[in-house]
Amino acid sequence: MPTYDYNCPKCGADFSAFVTMSQRDRVPCPHCDHPDVRQKITTLHRSGSARGGGSCATGGCSGCTGCR
Ligand SMILES: [Zn+2]
Repeated sequence: MPTYDYNCPKCGADFSAFVTMSQRDRVPCPHCDHPDVRQKITTLHRSGSARGGGSCATGGCSGCTGCR
């Protein structure tokens, strides 16, 4: 099970959560309980030739150009 990194837009906290794929979009902030935190895409599973595409591996982060 992977660990995801998140940033809370409300209190600005960075944190990591150990969640399943189905839970990763619904992780509350552990500091202020804000329900809509941003998932940060790590370089853990970066594919070698995907440079400059602007999209993330999951296609659902809404935080990069490929997902908006
Ligand atoms: Zn927060």
